Amino acid sequence: MKLLFAAAEMFPFAKSGGLADIAHALPKALANKIEVTAVMPLYRFVDRERYGIEPTGEHFTFQIGGATRTAEIFSAIHDGVLHLFVYNEALSDKEGIYGPPGGCYPDNDIRFALFCHAVAELSKRLGVHIVHLNDWHTALAAPLLKERGIAAKTVYTIHNLAYQGIFPAESLAGIGLSPHHFTMKDMEFYGAINWMKGGIRHSDLVTTVSPSYALEIQRAEYGCGLDGFICEHRHKLYGILNGIDEAFYDPSSDPALPFHFSKKRLLNKKRCKKAYLEEIDINKYEFPLFVFIGRFVEQKGLDWIIEAIDTIGEMPLFLSILGSGDARYHALLEEAAKRHERIVVRFGYDETLSHRMYAAADFLLMPSLFEPCGLNQMIAMRYGTIPVVHRVGGLRDTVHAWHAKEPLCGKGIFFEESDATAMVSAMKEALDLYAKKPRFNRVRSFDMVCDFSIRKCAEHYLSLYRRLV
Ligand code: ADP
Repeated sequence: MKLLFAAAEMFPFAKSGGLADIAHALPKALANKIEVTAVMPLYRFVDRERYGIEPTGEHFTFQIGGATRTAEIFSAIHDGVLHLFVYNEALSDKEGIYGPPGGCYPDNDIRFALFCHAVAELSKRLGVHIVHLNDWHTALAAPLLKERGIAAKTVYTIHNLAYQGIFPAESLAGIGLSPHHFTMKDMEFYGAINWMKGGIRHSDLVTTVSPSYALEIQRAEYGCGLDGFICEHRHKLYGILNGIDEAFYDPSSDPALPFHFSKKRLLNKKRCKKAYLEEIDINKYEFPLFVFIGRFVEQKGLDWIIEAIDTIGEMPLFLSILGSGDARYHALLEEAAKRHERIVVRFGYDETLSHRMYAAADFLLMPSLFEPCGLNQMIAMRYGTIPVVHRVGGLRDTVHAWHAKEPLCGKGIFFEESDATAMVSAMKEALDLYAKKPRFNRVRSFDMVCDFSIRKCAEHYLSLYRRLV
């Protein structure tokens, strides 16, 4: 079986969040079972030399919206997977993936339409059986494949329904798609054009990144205006829990860590904590360390953290925050950190720093308003860091009560109500658990050996692909 796996971001070439992690780990996990080719745009900032990315000599020319556009194909083998890269000036010559910090590029429709046309062309030339599309950036490939009569079956994964790729109706002409798609049953959405709808409607199977999220998005509360539409397509909807690359996220060998540890060598986790606290100029170690790592967007529950910041600042804990995104959150967090010496905020995107934080922490704070899957909590548990989460989406599927008798993977602390008070209560529960050292250590050790591997996720996808061909 031949698979083409397409995404707008893939680790280590370009990453803004969990999509890149999965787009790296899943093809890698599938590569020893089926023939996999991964494809992504070749952004200007991708380090071609470091990863041995070279031109294949192949060029495609498309007539899109009255304009002639070309795509140049590059390739590299990474982690045993053949990667193809699509280069086109409009698509690639940008500073970011989707836009400047906190924004979007105005020509994202043209950019990603070009990428989708290239994906459709590659599907044909490679003669693949399955095309696996991810999120709105690749959704257009589903109707394009059909329009062009390409026989490959499509699987479309929704990593986050909040980002749907909605563009003005006029953009339809510029993206090279037949106007017959502009109907309510298809891609029309309140007078605009919605790429996510196209991915859902025209794919053979649709998946979400956790079972709970597949149910949630069928309700108005989490459906982002598409709940009714998703219900119409629920016969082909599956919830498959994401997983993590356990070889990459491995505290016993992670090169980003100052000390390596495992369930049996936990002393070195303490050393990681001490080293990290020193790094952020804290010389007392008695309090538990909470970390928050993520994009600074409303989804991640930052408003609750900010609402409760003065209470948190008085609690016997350290809170270290890493992220970037909306300027509003930058300003509010910066100001809060000035007032509270035990709250430290670091701005930016820093992969190795995030690993040091997962390793150093006692608790991960993840109060997401909604969470399609969430990888942070799985990474945290692997590093012996107990998650404190809002019980939604993938967090519901991966974090069970620390005192539950059943051996459910994993364990932590969660809150159900959607407010800052409930989050603070959960943090207090974490402090109580921290004080009960044998129990705290039992939970920590239990979580470290929970199986959140991408292998399981890959098995599920494989069975879906097999059903299709
Ligand atoms: P999302 O995809 O919604 O951003 P996920 O939980 O699925 O959230 O995945 C987030 C991934 O991005 C994790 O690997 C996390 O460690 C990483 N990450 C998020 N923000 C940062 C940051 N500022 N620096 C380093 N890594 C980050």
